[in-house]
Amino acid sequence: MKGRRKSLDTFDGQLLNFFDKINTTGDCWIWQAAINKGGYGTCRFFQKKWLAHRLSWYLFFGDFDKSLSVCYWCNNPSCVRPQHLYLGTQIDNMTYMKQCGRQPNNVGELNPNAKIDIRAVNEIRGLRNAYRQVISETVRRLGLCECHVQRIANEQFWVSPSEKLEGGTDKAVEEIKKRLSL
Ligand SMILES: [Zn+2]
Repeated sequence: MKGRRKSLDTFDGQLLNFFDKINTTGDCWIWQAAINKGGYGTCRFFQKKWLAHRLSWYLFFGDFDKSLSVCYWCNNPSCVRPQHLYLGTQIDNMTYMKQCGRQPNNVGELNPNAKIDIRAVNEIRGLRNAYRQVISETVRRLGLCECHVQRIANEQFWVSPSEKLEGGTDKAVEEIKKRLSL
């Protein structure tokens, strides 16, 4: 650990500071620093306040439409592992939380809408699965590699085409770790 300390004025220093607060030994990467009432990690990145999982998305995938939610596949609000996150609308987040039996933390926009029941969830999922299949077939037809298919189908569903599709999350994590000598 010694000797790899970088100045907090630098991007790598901030990144290292972020990694220092994560326990990456399990499948989920558990946030070890401040947690808010909703169970989400909180932190600062260059003085700006972030929810840790949103910052994780930003660091690994780049800038995103901040009106979207960073949601969990793993249903663990203290997790910041990029592979366990996906970008979605608040409705996506709500339906998935509800389906997993997790209670939403907020009211207002996040309040469960009576119209969203399990049938609606299944319908949405069915459409998504169909869409995934179309994506897979299209990507294969275009001669791209399987990792792109996986990434598009599983994790990047809501990301606009302008967001990067090269590499994959694992590669991004490895590159960042290598850069920081972690
Ligand atoms: Zn997780």
